[in-house]
Amino acid sequence: MTTSSQTSGSSTRSEAEQRVLQRVESRMLIGGEWVSAEGNATFDVDDPANGEVIAQVADATPADGRRALDAAVAAQADFAKTTPQERHDLLMKAYDALIANQDDLALLMTLEMGKPVAEAKGEITYAAAFFRHFAHEALRIAGEFQTAPAGNARFMITKQPVGPCLLITPWNFPLAMGTRKIGPALAAGCTSVIKPAHQTPLSMLALGQILVDVGVPPGVVNIVTCTGAGEVMEPLIRSGDARKLSFTGSTKIGKVLLEQCAEKVLRTSMELGGNAPFIVFEDADLDEAVTGAMQAKMRNMGEACTAANRIYVHESVIEEFGQRLSATMAELKVGPGTAEGTQVGPLVDQAGRQKVSDLVADAKDKGASVLTGGEAPDGPGYFYPPTVLTGVPEDARMVREEIFGPVAPLTPFTSEDEVIAAANSTEFGLVSYVFTNDLRRALRVAERIESGMVGLNQGVVSNPAAPFGGIKESGLGREGGSVGIDEFLEVKYIGVAM
Ligand code: NAP
Repeated sequence: MTTSSQTSGSSTRSEAEQRVLQRVESRMLIGGEWVSAEGNATFDVDDPANGEVIAQVADATPADGRRALDAAVAAQADFAKTTPQERHDLLMKAYDALIANQDDLALLMTLEMGKPVAEAKGEITYAAAFFRHFAHEALRIAGEFQTAPAGNARFMITKQPVGPCLLITPWNFPLAMGTRKIGPALAAGCTSVIKPAHQTPLSMLALGQILVDVGVPPGVVNIVTCTGAGEVMEPLIRSGDARKLSFTGSTKIGKVLLEQCAEKVLRTSMELGGNAPFIVFEDADLDEAVTGAMQAKMRNMGEACTAANRIYVHESVIEEFGQRLSATMAELKVGPGTAEGTQVGPLVDQAGRQKVSDLVADAKDKGASVLTGGEAPDGPGYFYPPTVLTGVPEDARMVREEIFGPVAPLTPFTSEDEVIAAANSTEFGLVSYVFTNDLRRALRVAERIESGMVGLNQGVVSNPAAPFGGIKESGLGREGGSVGIDEFLEVKYIGVAM
């Protein structure tokens, strides 16, 4: 580790760290019981701040996965009969328990994923809010009643739980990506098998304990941890015994899973990759734009599907914007997420850091200049410094690929049409950010830009009460908002003769 603002990593665990690591389950939750994997197989979970092994958790076989799905299938009929009020109350109890355990959960998340504890606490609040939001949605599942056009029948349109669900989550938001799926599944009356990413299983296991403690019935939520995601999940998907797959992860894996779901025509929700454009017009408030860019770029060290991946700045303000952004980025304190005052933690693993290094090297080779950062430090941990590049050409790899790190590439533009064409020239369409003080331009650009979400003069769009999701190869369906629960409900039409 070489940056001056970086604190040193330490392998001495504090009492609080030891406590949260000792408390968390290392086994899987199947049918309400904590169970080891077949053959007692385990895998290591690392602390990305120093590479040390912090836990060994159950490494499921396909047979373990099957047991989990059997438990979900067995629990489905009874759970579907619970009342909306009962499901509301369960979710609110889980919300309260998450908030009550916020400090310990945040520390655990930092240890397995790397983000600073303050940010991890923010994720616990965000994750819990999905439970509160969907607790209320459970009470609002509504149908329709209609007279047939000929008057000879009545249409009753009602909604029922989809059935047992498979939920697969990524490592970058270890808890919130889980509650964003488990919340609506529980609210709708669906049972589930959830598989967290192998880098970050501990937060999900801790959530499992909370769900057991608040009284979620056995088999309603099952957790499977494994290193062989493909071999464990594919037979479950292809069996057709689960009726839905909700996946958050890369577009590459999402496409593989869509093909598998086609065999038994499973309902799918796909929250996939992003390549967000962040556009600063010449009339923007530059202070607001820099603040927004810091949020859109640096939330989660840039390891977010919503991260600003391409920053287009009008040529008349790019120099000033670049200076202000790089000065702010250079002041950030990099270090282990558990250290006091850390603002930027390590990336999740060596592969993630290597990808960021390769993308920066490629952009430099193609003519980009470094305003700050740009070199990975030596030493333990997967740290990468906050970096600003300017003059990043359109043929640089980072213009096409998700960076997933703290690197802000700046590119100048001259006209609105030119920047919209550049922003839309990607197969992704998750989120875009637009900074301008011209209301007409703001609305014009927001309508023309190809993404499921737009931040107008704001660098964060995620909110449990808003519909989150992408278009094009960024995904299918929406999570959160009033529509999030519909992903877990089937519409049934009952025709009643008169
Ligand atoms: P990933 O490699 O696609 O993995 C995501 C999850 O899928 C993990 O649990 C992984 O398990 C599992 N998986 C991998 N291969 C599988 C297979 N063949 N069958 C079944 N499951 C499989 O993505 P990631 O690197 O963890 O996450 C980063 C990606 O997620 C980025 O592209 C990011 O944009 C996207 N993301 C999207 C959103 C959104 O809402 N749109 C939110 C957050 C992240 P293992 O860990 O065991 O491999």
